[in-house]
Amino acid sequence: MSTSGLPQRKEFRATARLKQLMADHFHQLDEAAKTGSAKIAWCTSVGPAELLRAMGFLVYFPENHGAMLGATRTAMDYIPAANAAGYSPDICSYLTSDVGAFLRGETPLRRAYGIERVPRPDVLVYNTNQCRDVQDWFHFYGRRFGVPVLGISSPRGVEELSSVHIADVAAQLEAMVPALEKIAGRPLDMDRLREVVALSKRCSDLWKEVLDTARSVPSPWTFFDHTIHMGPAVVARGTPEAVEYYEILLEELRERIEQGMAAVDGERHRLYWEGMPIWGKLRDLANLFMDLRCCIVASTYCNSWIFSAFDPEDPFRSMAHAYTDIFICHAEPWKERYIEERIREFQVDGILFHDAKTCPNNSNSRYGMPQRLQERLGLPALVVHGDLNDLRCYSEEQVRTNIEAFVEQLEER
Ligand code: SF4
Repeated sequence: MSTSGLPQRKEFRATARLKQLMADHFHQLDEAAKTGSAKIAWCTSVGPAELLRAMGFLVYFPENHGAMLGATRTAMDYIPAANAAGYSPDICSYLTSDVGAFLRGETPLRRAYGIERVPRPDVLVYNTNQCRDVQDWFHFYGRRFGVPVLGISSPRGVEELSSVHIADVAAQLEAMVPALEKIAGRPLDMDRLREVVALSKRCSDLWKEVLDTARSVPSPWTFFDHTIHMGPAVVARGTPEAVEYYEILLEELRERIEQGMAAVDGERHRLYWEGMPIWGKLRDLANLFMDLRCCIVASTYCNSWIFSAFDPEDPFRSMAHAYTDIFICHAEPWKERYIEERIREFQVDGILFHDAKTCPNNSNSRYGMPQRLQERLGLPALVVHGDLNDLRCYSEEQVRTNIEAFVEQLEER
C-alpha cells in the first residue's frame, strides 16, 4: 500500500528479462536490415510466423509496432498523415498510425532502442483471419518497398471449425512455400518446421498457464500486466527465448500465489475485458481499477495468443487449425460460449466490453452480445467506448464516470 492508502502496482522481477528479449528482437532485425545477414519477413500477429522462422526469416510484426505507437501516445501525431494519403480515420488506427509514422519517417523504436527505422522487408505475409485491414496495410508497404506480398484468406464468422476450413487454409499455407523458398534462397526443411512448431506450442501452453494463474483468488496479476508480458508470445513464439521467458514468469507468478500476493490489494471484484486494449490509457485505467479494488483477471485479447492446436507431427494442418480457430474468426454463439466459460473459470462478476471505434472486428458489443450475456449469466456488463490507438474517440471523463457507476452497481449486488 502507498502512503495515500491506495494500492500500488507491483512490478515483476521478470520485467528486466522481458525488456532484454524485446530489445534483442528489434536489434537483430535492425542488424539484418543493415547488413543483409538474414532475410526479413513482415507478418500479421496471428499469421504463419512458424513457417517464416523455419525458412530462416527474421520476423517483424507491424501490429506490435502499431501497439507501441498507441502505448507511447504518438499515434495521434501520425494518423493525420495517413488520412492525408487517403486512409480513412474510420479504418484500423494501427494501420493509420503505422502508415502515418512511416510517411513521416519516424518510429518509437528510435527512443526505445536507438533504432532509426523499421526493418526493410524482403516479403510481407498476411492472414485475413483477423480482418481485411491487414491486407491493405501490407499492400501499402509492398508498393512502397517493391517487395512481394503473400496472403492467406481465412474463413470468418465460423460457427464450428470443420475439416473443410482447415484443409482450405492448410492448402494455402503449403501453396505459399515455393514463393517463400525463392525469396529465402533455400528449401523448406520440414524438420526445422517441426522444431519451430514445437517451440510455438510450448510457448503457447506456457502463455496459457501464466494467464491461468489469474484464476487464483486474489489474482497475482491483471489484464494490464498481461498486455505487457504478452510481447514474447506475439513477437518471439517459435524461439527458445520465448519459452524460457514464460518459464521464469510462471515461477514468479506461482511464488506470488504461494505468498498470497494480490495484484490489487483488497481485491473486491473480478472483471473480464472483451475487446482491444486502449493502449494510450493502460496506465490510467490500471490505476483507476486498482483504486476501485477491481482486478481484470482475463480478456479475450490476451487469450488470442493461445494456440492449443499446434502439433509438430502435423505442422501445416495444425497451423491452419490453430490460426483459424481464434476467437475473432468465429460467429457470435461460439464467442458467447467462449466468454461464458472464461467467466466461470476465472470467477468473474462483471464484463467490460470495449467498443473500439476503428476496429469493428474486435468489438463485440454491436450485435446485442452484452445484453444476451447479461441476461443469461445474470452479470452486469458495461460498454466502454474508445479506441485502440485513436484517442480522439475516447472521453476520459465519460469512461471514468461510467466505470465508477458500474462498480457501484457491483457493490450493490
Ligand atoms: S483486428 Fe482490428 S486492430 Fe487488429 S489489425 Fe484488424 S482492424 Fe486493426
